Amino acid sequence: MLLDSVERLRIPVIAAIHGACLGGGLETALACRYRIATDHPKTILGVPEVQLGLIPGAGGTQRLPRRIGLTNALDLILTGKHVRAKKALQLGLVDELVHPSILRTISIQRAREVAEGRRKSERYGGGLKGVILDRNPAGRTLVLRRAREQTLAKSRGNYPALIAAIDAIATGYDKGPAEGYREESRRFGEMAMTDVSRQLIFLFFATNELKKDPGVDPLQYPELPVSAFEPLPIDKIAIIGAGFMGAGIASIAVQHGSLVRLKDADHSRVAKGYAAVRDVLKERLTRKQITRVQYSDYMALVGGTVDYSGFGNVDLVIEAVFEDLAVKHQVLRETEAAIKPSAIFATNTSTIPISLIAQASIRPDRVLGMHFFSPVHKMPLVEVITTEQTYPQVVATAVSYAKKLGKTVIVVNDGPGFYVNRILSPYINEAAILLDQGVAVEIIDKALVDFGFPVGPITLIDEVGLDVAMKAGKIMAEAFPDRMHAANSLPAVVTAGRYGRKSGKGFYSYDKEGKKGDVDPSVYALFLAPGSIPVVKSITPPNAQDEPQRDDMPGIQIQQRTVLAMLNEAARCLSDGIIKSPRDGDVGAVFGIGFPPFRGGPFRYMDSLGIQIVVQRLEDLNARFPGRYEPAELLLEMARRRQVFYPGER
Ligand code: NAD
Repeated sequence: MLLDSVERLRIPVIAAIHGACLGGGLETALACRYRIATDHPKTILGVPEVQLGLIPGAGGTQRLPRRIGLTNALDLILTGKHVRAKKALQLGLVDELVHPSILRTISIQRAREVAEGRRKSERYGGGLKGVILDRNPAGRTLVLRRAREQTLAKSRGNYPALIAAIDAIATGYDKGPAEGYREESRRFGEMAMTDVSRQLIFLFFATNELKKDPGVDPLQYPELPVSAFEPLPIDKIAIIGAGFMGAGIASIAVQHGSLVRLKDADHSRVAKGYAAVRDVLKERLTRKQITRVQYSDYMALVGGTVDYSGFGNVDLVIEAVFEDLAVKHQVLRETEAAIKPSAIFATNTSTIPISLIAQASIRPDRVLGMHFFSPVHKMPLVEVITTEQTYPQVVATAVSYAKKLGKTVIVVNDGPGFYVNRILSPYINEAAILLDQGVAVEIIDKALVDFGFPVGPITLIDEVGLDVAMKAGKIMAEAFPDRMHAANSLPAVVTAGRYGRKSGKGFYSYDKEGKKGDVDPSVYALFLAPGSIPVVKSITPPNAQDEPQRDDMPGIQIQQRTVLAMLNEAARCLSDGIIKSPRDGDVGAVFGIGFPPFRGGPFRYMDSLGIQIVVQRLEDLNARFPGRYEPAELLLEMARRRQVFYPGER
């Protein structure tokens, strides 16, 4: 109502936009008579509410479609993405772009012109498509129906705000804006009370808290001066290993202004790494996310080498060579001989304990783990791993640098698999055991995508590489032999030379461009008895009326076996001191593995199930599969005391 009165005011109100204009900010701008934005990289516009499980609640679902056309508005509202000023102008979201220095002058001038009736904001109809689809009721019905279908298929009903937003938009078209506003506020209220939005808002605040978290707590080191916690400046870095990960890290480092020495064993591998960096930047250029000038500036920051020349003045070395302790030891020794004593050595190992790598170091206080996830330019998390010897300033520096690269950082303690891979391991392992037992590949994947993971565990193994997954699984099985027995299926498929996407064949088949196809049925012969086919071929729908078929397995059973193994391990990581808090564990799982964000993360999910229920389900599973589901001591204790991980929430 307030914004409506702004819109109707006799004296026109116009919006002058510089910086972030998101959510209620953009809705306010939309209620103005005219919008001017600065053509500045900081100026972004969008309605991100659905990312918090909400819908735009100040008229956005009504004004936005009328301003930029239904299709464009649905795209902005249902993704919550933001657009830059130039795109906003193209969309008709703003009327004009100006340089920041003249924003004020031009705005005052435009206000006069609008008041005197000499200037008007032109509505954008969404182009020819807009005329055909948005402007007639049949076209709109079609667009809205398609949006509903696609949204449901993609979100699997896990994100109710998406449908609520479509409902509010549809009401506005069917019954007029007044009804539309009412429906919008009614649905906003409903969404604000959902568990989904509670979880998403928690994640939003937790990530913001982590942005401010320096990663070390001075109170734990009362003997050290304040300066021991101040991050050192990092301008020049070296990356050893120009493979998949090394090149990925280089590609983001240059975009944040670091000068990068990329080292590998020979020239052809350096060249390959260089080409991989170029590909990432080229893609950004093609998508107009960076300019041609930026592209060449960034490329100019990468230099290749096959020896340690230029290492004398780097501030940080990130090692991403093969996952082999002997190789890592050799590289560490050679590096320390070449770098200045103050430089930091960070290893990107995914499974080898950092303290084991640091054994070869003459300065173990300057050694730690910086665990990036693949693909580096897309995955938002970095795990910084500390040993007992790592000096606080070294941790603070690694944390601050990873944040500078745009990552969310959790600081974890050393141990096999650290946090993310440690909780991932029993989950993947259980999926592989289900395969051993004759459950079809696509059934396992479907059950966990339904649960809310972005991809199923078998697809994930294919992505990561079966060889890599098997090696990691072996290390974890050695570390935790009581509960992480390796499955037969993985090694059998690896032995057949099928490594997943990178080799064109794993559990699924891939075309020449690496695009995933169907499950390759010949895979079953590799680990099931000769001639056998998977027994379990379908999932019983949760509310099935009919008796389940003999070859059905309830999806929930697959979900429980895999996810409970992960939850149990997460609880162990907390009591073992691998992670510092449930918050870090939740953020790490959501951003590192894609644990369903609407469930908040493993700890919040356990809270919403109830710890007693979690323990009971683990005990039931442990009775069927002795040893694999022994409930963590911490969970037993919490169940006895009726505690929760987030006590403030109840
Ligand atoms: P990769 O095989 O793609 O790259 C390794 C590179 O290191 C190769 O180019 C190789 O030539 C080079 N190399 C080997 N020995 C060297 C030496 N002595 N000096 C210089 N270069 C040397 O492997 P990757 O997938 O990039 O993995 C690298 C590291 O990152 C491993 O420790 C791995 O566990 C870890 N990691 C991998 C992933 C992933 O998904 N691939 C994720 C997180 C961490």
